[in-house]
Amino acid sequence: MTTSSTINSAGLVFDNSYARELTGLYAPWQAAQVPQASMTKLNLALAAELGLDAAALGTELGVAIFSGNQVPAGATPLAQAYSGHQFGRFSPQLGDGRALLLGEVIDTLGQRRDIAFKGSGRTPFSRGGDGKATLGPMLREYLISEAMHALGIPTTRALAVVSTGEAILREGVLPGAVLTRVASSHIRVGTFQYVSAQDKDELIRQLADYVIARHDPALSSAENPYLSFLQAVSERQAALIAQWMLVGFIHGVMNTDNMTISGETIDYGPCAFMDSYDSDTVFSSIDRQGRYAYSNQPQIAQWNLARLAETLLTLIDPDPERAVLLATAVLDSFPQRYQAHWLAGMRNKLGWTGEQPADMELARDFLASMEGQGVDFTMAFRRLADLVENGDANGLRDLYDDASQLDTWLPRWRARLAVDALDAPQRAAGMRAVNPLYIPRNHLVEQALNSALQGNMLPFEKLLEVLQNPYQEQAELALYTEPASAAAAVGYRTFCGT
Ligand code: AMP
Ligand code: MG
Repeated sequence: MTTSSTINSAGLVFDNSYARELTGLYAPWQAAQVPQASMTKLNLALAAELGLDAAALGTELGVAIFSGNQVPAGATPLAQAYSGHQFGRFSPQLGDGRALLLGEVIDTLGQRRDIAFKGSGRTPFSRGGDGKATLGPMLREYLISEAMHALGIPTTRALAVVSTGEAILREGVLPGAVLTRVASSHIRVGTFQYVSAQDKDELIRQLADYVIARHDPALSSAENPYLSFLQAVSERQAALIAQWMLVGFIHGVMNTDNMTISGETIDYGPCAFMDSYDSDTVFSSIDRQGRYAYSNQPQIAQWNLARLAETLLTLIDPDPERAVLLATAVLDSFPQRYQAHWLAGMRNKLGWTGEQPADMELARDFLASMEGQGVDFTMAFRRLADLVENGDANGLRDLYDDASQLDTWLPRWRARLAVDALDAPQRAAGMRAVNPLYIPRNHLVEQALNSALQGNMLPFEKLLEVLQNPYQEQAELALYTEPASAAAAVGYRTFCGT
């Protein structure tokens, strides 16, 4: 452990409920000192949202705080303990191996937010790891999590990336970095599993009561708060995964330690957006069986929720059989919950108002028409909006290698449009408001990161700016809408934890 001093904290006013209330679920710890810290990227908008002094954070003070070199007053840095099923296998002790929770602040809207580091050095949970993070992946998390936020998808946020001046040994030598991550909490399914594995009934109740008070306070007076809590988490995950699916987001490592209770997307290691539609798409180099493939995400979420449910059984009902019955009913409702969110989103994407009985089938058939046809998923929905406006199907048809399935689908879709009283411009505008034009395309992300690693942050800044406004077309940004060439897209691979 390094010694620390406290300094002016640039508006960070901590109120650390996790440290206060969940003794046993963390190890108090300090960030490693780094030799040559410099600010690579600071999120001024998020700093303002948190009520921080953005100007002060832009000085050496911000560098000192977000490198971990100095502990701001009121912080109680700690490494959180958690377990997790990784690719289906249970690891009883994971925990923050290279992360630290600095503390919690109340933002300008009165919401409690965690301020945490990633890459801040070894902790008691590091096992064989070095506790470090490198600049490319931390900038990647910054870019993609901020893009998700701009898309309206619940996510952890990125407040800062500081370069540490260290050389980190990976597959080569890479520059070190610390990311400051903001989350409505870092409590995961794996946090419950950690307590449950210790067989301490009182501690699981304490954790559940803490989490309910923090994320679902209204449920504390419910008839069965713990069952209602399971339902609330399921509902948030159903909504979240539907949003991922609707924009072609593939998380890539949906281990139970990477699923939050809050319903925010967390852990931007191997994630990527799908380009041409293929329901089996996998980007992560370590996901050899395709467990976390695009189309598996809803089922995996349900599987993870079953792991959460197991930890809550003794709280749900003293009679084990009854507890299982009650929890199973909640778990079994997940597919319907998910489908309801997905279908509502697809109706908007396809330009439909109201509800018709055949909507689900028709929506699915649009995706089926794209399967294996090299169709850019993002662009297809924008071209559909163009078709509404100009009546010309060729823009959409041109995306397909073979458009024959689309040709039988389009008349059915048109017939469905005719049911709603909506004029074409209105409908097209509605579709464009929900179908993003600008997503973090893999080749653009790679270009931006490569330039950043060579010291040129301009492509990163520009891409970040474009992604802040994903729906509104700007003529001069045409390049940002293009998919990678087919050759470049083949074999795109992402990496975990690097
Ligand atoms: P992740 O795949 O990022 O969810 O990480 C899985 C587990 O490995 C977590 O407990 C991390 O804290 C830990 N971990 C990942 N990278 C490192 C590292 N470089 N040093 C120590 N622990 C790590
Ligand atoms: Mg993780």
